[in-house]
Amino acid sequence: MSRLSRRSFVNALLAAGAATVAPPILAAQAAGEVDVIIVGAGAAGIAAARRVAAANKRYALLEASGRPGGRCAVDAKIFGVPFDLGAHWIHSPDSNQVVKTATGFDIYPAPRAQTLRVGARAARDSELEGFLAATLRSHRAMADLNKAKTDFPANRLLPKDLFDWQSTVEFMLGPFATGKELSEISAFDMARAVDREGAAFCRQGYGALLAKLGTGFGAQLSTPVEAVLWGNKFAVDTPKGNFIGKAIIVTVSTNVLTSDKIEFIPPLPKRHLDAASKLSLGSYDHVALEMPGNPLGLQKDDVVFERADGTKTAALLANVSGTDLHLVEVAGSFGRDLSAQGEDAMKAFAGEAVHETQWGTVNGAWESGTRAAEAALRRLGALGEGGDDKPTKRRRRR
Ligand SMILES: Cc1cc2nc3c(=O)[nH]c(=O)nc-3n(C[C@H](O)[C@H](O)[C@H](O)COP(=O)(O)OP(=O)(O)OC[C@H]3O[C@@H](n4cnc5c(N)ncnc54)[C@H](O)[C@@H]3O)c2cc1C
Repeated sequence: MSRLSRRSFVNALLAAGAATVAPPILAAQAAGEVDVIIVGAGAAGIAAARRVAAANKRYALLEASGRPGGRCAVDAKIFGVPFDLGAHWIHSPDSNQVVKTATGFDIYPAPRAQTLRVGARAARDSELEGFLAATLRSHRAMADLNKAKTDFPANRLLPKDLFDWQSTVEFMLGPFATGKELSEISAFDMARAVDREGAAFCRQGYGALLAKLGTGFGAQLSTPVEAVLWGNKFAVDTPKGNFIGKAIIVTVSTNVLTSDKIEFIPPLPKRHLDAASKLSLGSYDHVALEMPGNPLGLQKDDVVFERADGTKTAALLANVSGTDLHLVEVAGSFGRDLSAQGEDAMKAFAGEAVHETQWGTVNGAWESGTRAAEAALRRLGALGEGGDDKPTKRRRRR
């Protein structure tokens, strides 16, 4: 793993932000010219559209699928209660901009404690203590790079003497938290990831929250961008016609970026593609079960881990928001194998890449969208260097 896939990718994008930035509306509804073209209406695209709109610039928010929200989506029909198909945990709620922006939702803290099972029984107090001590040591080890100058896989940071808890801790910090095995994650990225301080849930679903934030921002749905022309000018080709912009913000996932679904003209530089391919999406699925009457005797939003002896393990989120809905969380290599078997109940999405520390989260995507929008606005002269909405003073040319 080369040093710094993520930061170099971010830098490359910011530099390309320069390049990426280029033109057309306040929510254009038809092909034509705008100030900023935004490709993708997930959390990052919605945040970007809101930021550009706040600066009174015209934009086109182009979304391939039939709804905004991307990997945040809620379904209320299958079980008759909100079921988040994608993101569900609201990380760092006190600083989470998505939460700060949304109003009218019932957002409450997630329980801090977890439940632990050993086989068919609940863990004994001594086992729970052993597990918590192993978790704490591992968290500390993950943050300690010991002055390393070159990157390496994050699993090498993990203590090797976790004994009974090795696999469970590896699952918890790797697949459960990120969708990837620790061996597939950069140690530098892990160490830099801010501690996701606390978590919260939204009773109506994180997907509902994002859907509301996207409402009224004129996303053009079922409008896949097929080609991006970038350089001195910026234009995109869609089945609904061409959009031209002074800036462009591309928020599609790294997997889409490295596929041939969007033709970049000229092609993206190889080093950008190499960096994006190192940030490929992980695998994370919810297997949803409706269990009336709380047969497992668990609390509301209880998170249950099991003592595992390999990668074939999962976590259970019980009684989601006090309903009969239970989610079995499968992720990483095991989740990927299950997904490949084509289980209908499993919906596969995965994590966001361009935030240096909050990668793989909705709030990270939101911040990256806002940041890209500000880079675009700055480029258009619509923002001062400090990020305010005042036009930048023009520098005298030499
Ligand atoms: C199952 C699952 C569980 C998760 N759990 C959590 C969680 O609990 N908490 C958390 O914070 N995060 C979680 N995440 C991660 C989180 O959902 C993502 O990090 C975040 O939603 C990514 O937002 P984004 O805007 O960067 O990308 P996306 O949401 O992927 O948005 C990109 C958009 O671009 C569109 N697009 C693609 N190609 C084109 C094209 N050619 N033209 C136009 N549009 C295009 C896509 O349709 C999509 O709408 C989870 C993800 C998954 C999949």
